[in-house]
Amino acid sequence: MKNIVFIAPPAAGKGTQSKMICAAYNVPHISTGDLLREAVESGTTIGNQIKNQMTLGTLIDDEVVLTLLKERLAKEDCKDGYILDGYPRNVAQAKVYDALLAESGKKVEHVLVLDLDYDTAKMRITGRFTCQRCGHVYNTNIEELKPMKQGVCDYCKSKLIQRKDDNEETFKKRYETYLKETEPLIAYYKEKDIVSHINSKRDAYLIFADIKKILGEPKHD
Ligand code: AMP
Repeated sequence: MKNIVFIAPPAAGKGTQSKMICAAYNVPHISTGDLLREAVESGTTIGNQIKNQMTLGTLIDDEVVLTLLKERLAKEDCKDGYILDGYPRNVAQAKVYDALLAESGKKVEHVLVLDLDYDTAKMRITGRFTCQRCGHVYNTNIEELKPMKQGVCDYCKSKLIQRKDDNEETFKKRYETYLKETEPLIAYYKEKDIVSHINSKRDAYLIFADIKKILGEPKHD
């Protein structure tokens, strides 16, 4: 699997696209946001340190994220590749990641920029609900993505939950953080000539079709 980096504002669909790529190309999905949320939920030392900051929409300390990421990438299932979702989030992390890949003779091969305007991102974030059991994602601000019964998953009938940082106030902060810290990565990678822009104000399947054109069709045994 080629090494891909996503650059995307909140709610542009990097989580959804990562899952679709993982299913099609048969590689694990490594989300630094999920790793950090899991640390908070399981009450680890790191989790307790970052608990409050995770709800503010600012970035967590680079060293903390790197520690969790390295631990995860060392696991057996990552040896033939993985999809990284949410890392790097700033130029310092991009440099560290380049160095980490270089240790095993690798490099970032594709940078996928998921373009999305502020208002659409806000509408998606404030209506986003996820099934706590099967992970299916709904959106109460988008007619075709609403659950049939409010607060209940259509498929497994479990409760739908909203992420603590999916509210209007934290969204503003997350978007600002994206513009200030993460968007400059486009210029960083542009020099390497590996950046593709994708219009993300479209159906997830259309976005995924564009991504497959860039990555090449998955191989089936
Ligand atoms: P996400 O699930 O990718 O939207 O990330 C949720 C939150 O986790 C972000 O708002 C940050 O506070 C934190 N986070 C995720 N990835 C990183 C990263 N690479 N560096 C710093 N903080 C991160």
